[in-house]
Amino acid sequence: MSSCVFCAIAEGGAPASRVYEDDDVVAFLDIRPIARGHTLVVPRIHAARLEDLDPASGAAVFRAGQRIARAMSRSELATDGTNLVLNDGRAAFQTVFHTHLHVLPRWTGDRVRMGIGLLRRRPHDPETTAALIRAGLDRLTSEEHP
Ligand code: AMP
Ligand code: ZN
Repeated sequence: MSSCVFCAIAEGGAPASRVYEDDDVVAFLDIRPIARGHTLVVPRIHAARLEDLDPASGAAVFRAGQRIARAMSRSELATDGTNLVLNDGRAAFQTVFHTHLHVLPRWTGDRVRMGIGLLRRRPHDPETTAALIRAGLDRLTSEEHP
């Protein structure tokens, strides 16, 4: 199995609450969420740092992040907004060296602050949360193809 935890998740060799996948990316819940539904989108092809990321792979990561954000607003999570965050390098708080995009759900008046890594974080019923996001993606697909 891969020594990279996100490669292991992408290959199906490590557990994760998956919300989306396609040929280029896999998306799953962050194990220490900043907010309920906090999702990570990772390229299937390993890239430790942003500079290692193939631009086509980066485009696929962003496309999926945008889609998941739209799906969250249509899901029972009923988000009001999103932060898309990519931490590149230790100086920017990167701790897992397989580039990933954080999809951080936001609600009007929530108390989330952007100091990722500094807050006390606990899971919020990940299986139910992942199912809600998948339902939002299904809703999005039916809107696009009525
Ligand atoms: P970063 O600081 O941008 O490198 O963020 C890495 C994120 O990966 C953190 O928010 C961790 O909670 C999350 N994380 C680490 N290991 C796992 C894992 N096995 N499954 C899901 N999320 C993880
Ligand atoms: Zn990797």
